[in-house]
Amino acid sequence: MYTVLAILAHPDDMEIACGGTLLKCKGRGDRVVSCYLCSGNMGHVVVMPDELRRIRAGEAKKSGDMGGFEVIWGGFDDLDLYETKEARDRVVDIVRRVNPDFIITHAPNDYMSDHTATSKLVFDAAFSATCPHYETEVEGTAKMVPIFYAETSNGIDFNPTEYVDVTPFMEKKLEMARCHASQVQWLLDHDGVDFIEQVCISSKYRGYQCGATYAEGFTQCRTDMRLSTKRYLP
Ligand SMILES: [Zn+2]
Repeated sequence: MYTVLAILAHPDDMEIACGGTLLKCKGRGDRVVSCYLCSGNMGHVVVMPDELRRIRAGEAKKSGDMGGFEVIWGGFDDLDLYETKEARDRVVDIVRRVNPDFIITHAPNDYMSDHTATSKLVFDAAFSATCPHYETEVEGTAKMVPIFYAETSNGIDFNPTEYVDVTPFMEKKLEMARCHASQVQWLLDHDGVDFIEQVCISSKYRGYQCGATYAEGFTQCRTDMRLSTKRYLP
């Protein structure tokens, strides 16, 4: 089937934004690669960054293993991702290595800089990766492919045009979200948010919009050479 590459900012963003969709992709036989660009090392009140980087790599691996996904880290730390050539080239290398059939990333209007930078870098890198004379560490090119934007944090100013029914995968999606134990604590301390409840309610809400019990919503990046007559989302 397809190779799907999710490039998101932090280790737990995949479960929140598109965990059910990726599980459904895996279920139909896709190769699923989940990449987080930033280590998540700032996401705690008590645990210090170096230790948290290690903890969160373990949490991401545990969750990814549960879904049968390949999990990779882009090599950046939190609040240290900018739209530089160096950062773009690193994303180009990821895209070239995986050579996906479609990409999922953050919406360009998401809530903080790691997310918005990820979105822009993916948009730029997905094009650059197709150019044979654009030199980076990884040789060879990737295909020009569709990009889907996952919903913004809490869906603010985000109107999905694509829905994926994730009802049969909801339990596993929540189980995977629970692997990010450090974030269950952080979101409670920093934002007063129940992480698991939030993931559950946003999928329930998107489900109401499309007649499913639970769903995830996306928009498609609408530029030349990125549209297709095929349905890539499961
Ligand atoms: Zn994030």
